[in-house]
Amino acid sequence: MLMDKIAVVTGANRGIGLEICRQLAQKGVKVILTARSEEKGKKAKGKLQSEGLDVIFHQMDVNNEASVQQAADYVTGKFGKLDILVNNAGIGGDLDNRASDANIDQIKEIIETNIFGPLLVCKAFIPIMLESNDARIINISSIMGALSEMGSGSVGYRISKTALNAITCILASELKDTNILVNSMHPGWVRTDMGGPTAPCSVEEGADTAVWLATTDNLPSGKFFRDREEIEW
Ligand code: NDP
Repeated sequence: MLMDKIAVVTGANRGIGLEICRQLAQKGVKVILTARSEEKGKKAKGKLQSEGLDVIFHQMDVNNEASVQQAADYVTGKFGKLDILVNNAGIGGDLDNRASDANIDQIKEIIETNIFGPLLVCKAFIPIMLESNDARIINISSIMGALSEMGSGSVGYRISKTALNAITCILASELKDTNILVNSMHPGWVRTDMGGPTAPCSVEEGADTAVWLATTDNLPSGKFFRDREEIEW
């Protein structure tokens, strides 16, 4: 059991984020479940608590710098360090948006959450992650952002995840002399509100690699994973 570990998960009121909180808490990690909606976040926390899991809720809208800083201040004041940060919050919904006929407003909206969100969150939490002797940042990316498998459509979502992967590499380089490992992962196509009901993977499967990256010893930094295996960018 990982009783002395503290984790923050963004966008954790449902879907893969909620399941990552569940699996980390089952391993004994002290989980701070965050969500932009106070009501939805408290409901999600209640659900995990009813399963006997030790979970705290704190509001955090990754689009709002003040809200992100408040959450970081809360964790600093209460725990003085952070071991695991999962940048899970994300939006999509631009399946029909094509680069050859781009809806720029839609792309901007996605970039705000999927790129600037994780950057703001990392900026606020890295100072207290440096207080941990073994810290992990896990960016929930997507194979749709992999340059090696790039397809068409979803232009905003695709470029946001390509950029998130770049952020992983940049942070891993900037933090190479610290105790913070930074990795990206693709959860699979998962049955959530985003993935839809016909997706092949369960949320348990979708959360697995993120939890593995958060809790396994002797991992590299600055890599992209799927099903616990390194994959091409
Ligand atoms: P869901 O749509 O089910 O959940 C997304 C979560 O992000 C919700 O809790 C949502 O909160 C939250 N969120 C959105 N914007 C913000 C914000 N500004 N601040 C805080 N939270 C926010 O998606 P999934 O669980 O499927 O996806 C989780 C991650 O996995 C995403 O990054 C996604 O891109 C990635 N992914 C998912 C795949 C899939 O097949 N499902 C495949 C590949 C990657 P709210 O309820 O308030 O909207």
